[in-house]
Amino acid sequence: MNCIHPSPDEPGFATAEMLYIDPDACVDCGACVSACPVGAIAPDSRLTENQLPFIELNAAFYPKRAGKLPPTSKLAPVLEAPKVHPRGDGPLRVAIVGSGPAAMYAADELLTQRGVRVNVFEKLPTPYGLVRAGVAPDHQSTKRVTRLFDRMAQQSGFTFFLNVEIGKHLTHADLLEHHHAVLYAVGAPNDRRLDIDGMGLTGTATATEVVAWFNGHPDYVGLPVDLSHERVVIVGNGNVALDVARVLTTDPDALARTDIADHALAALRQSKVQEVVIAARRGPAQSAFTLPELIGLTSTCDVVLDAADHDLVIRDLATETDPLTRNKLEILSKLDAAEADSTPITRPRIRLAYRLTPQRVLGQGTVTGIQFGITGTGETRTIDAGMVLTSIGYRGKAIADLPFDDAAAVVPNAGGRVLDGDVPVRGAYVAGWIKRGPTGFIGTNKSCAAETVHNLVEDYNRGRLGDPVHKPAALDKLVRSRQPAVVDAAGLKAIDAAEIARGGEDRPRVKFTGIDEMLAAAATAPKPTVGQRLMAGLRR
Ligand code: NAP
Repeated sequence: MNCIHPSPDEPGFATAEMLYIDPDACVDCGACVSACPVGAIAPDSRLTENQLPFIELNAAFYPKRAGKLPPTSKLAPVLEAPKVHPRGDGPLRVAIVGSGPAAMYAADELLTQRGVRVNVFEKLPTPYGLVRAGVAPDHQSTKRVTRLFDRMAQQSGFTFFLNVEIGKHLTHADLLEHHHAVLYAVGAPNDRRLDIDGMGLTGTATATEVVAWFNGHPDYVGLPVDLSHERVVIVGNGNVALDVARVLTTDPDALARTDIADHALAALRQSKVQEVVIAARRGPAQSAFTLPELIGLTSTCDVVLDAADHDLVIRDLATETDPLTRNKLEILSKLDAAEADSTPITRPRIRLAYRLTPQRVLGQGTVTGIQFGITGTGETRTIDAGMVLTSIGYRGKAIADLPFDDAAAVVPNAGGRVLDGDVPVRGAYVAGWIKRGPTGFIGTNKSCAAETVHNLVEDYNRGRLGDPVHKPAALDKLVRSRQPAVVDAAGLKAIDAAEIARGGEDRPRVKFTGIDEMLAAAATAPKPTVGQRLMAGLRR
């Protein structure tokens, strides 16, 4: 109905922090409410108390912008859907490496075309990347996007090869022998590291490792997370820092109704942490967290500011002209002052702190605190802490046999076409964080993947891609010879059902955190007969 802004022809589309619904254009049909896969749109009459601030923000958006936004602008698609030109020698076959949002949106875009075959390779036995291992467990509505991904994976032409690692079980060249193109959507699996003295002491870690730990990622089950002290400091104030601070300060009984890993829940029940400090090196107006996440934080947690930081907020408010930043500053200006809060702490609180440039982590063997320089001055400040987490962003990792831009930590590309210098690498494409760097939301990957698929299909139509040298049925045989423990869609369904059953009445699921447990659950899936396997291979 063209009531949701920014629309594709408006500034900020696909990058905006939140959407606004035009009260004049909206006819309350409710279609967007039921269509949104992450439950991000709700009728104003059914908002929870935590969501009420959005009513005012939405209302304020329209009068201020009257005349600036075209209220009835024509909805223009970002890109036209790709049109594959059919050929006599078999369908377009694409391998997608990775199974997070960018991978799933790319597969879905390709499968809008009749006959296309998409094979998705994932190194874990469970798919969906950061939606499973990165989205915080108290954000269950965001995790609901997996239902959409499940539906995408059930389409004809889509095949999962889970528990198969490209670079270990199969090479890029192997994939190209079986496909016209290989599209890497492997995300940014590493963390940016803070290069200061003391990082590496016991009690230091990255926020993203802690996120993976409380989400039950098999590689992070053993992360030493010691919560037997009063304070945790997080360096950096992006949305990941807010996720970690929220989980560390939320009532464990509330978390017990989510899919948080049992080991994390047990540790949080014993936690002695009373305060989590989120320390940013710049000022309040430059906060990296987004407005919706700040609203989520302040409406569910006790969040305070030091008096000096409150002054910085007021100073920024006096000069800030960007309306979205002003909204953030207005929320910050209403926070309680940390010093005035003399009541005994009944639950852990979060302190937002500004203009603190990390200099060194303190301690002998184990963390006792962190020293900051007060940005723009020669002064220093020390904060005592038993744990220091850096949350300064993710970082992409080089992919075997592809070029890599080490400075930007992405695979060099033009619109998703991998480039070696200025020359496109035949048959190689990227989407998601390995293409554009670690920014944006789940939905940002939809337009990002669409652009890549558009270019891939154009290359196919123009005859720029090599033909696979093997028949479709040969792929399954190759994969099983290299990785007998490959998990297919039936195996995944068995893992999913077992996790949901473990969750019982009160929890959405209790995840398996070990690969062996996942494979044991997958092995309970009914085995396809040789005939069924052959038929599936032929369809591939
Ligand atoms: P981010 O948003 O890029 O924030 C990084 C933070 O680290 C910034 O505060 C940055 O400060 C700081 N930083 C960088 N280098 C530093 C240094 N050397 N010393 C001190 N501070 C430093 O990263 P993120 O939190 O990892 O998030 C990654 C992406 O995922 C973002 O797009 C985020 O919105 C998204 N995400 C979204 C959600 C959600 O929607 N719920 C949840 C999680 C993540 P400066 O600004 O001063 O550089």
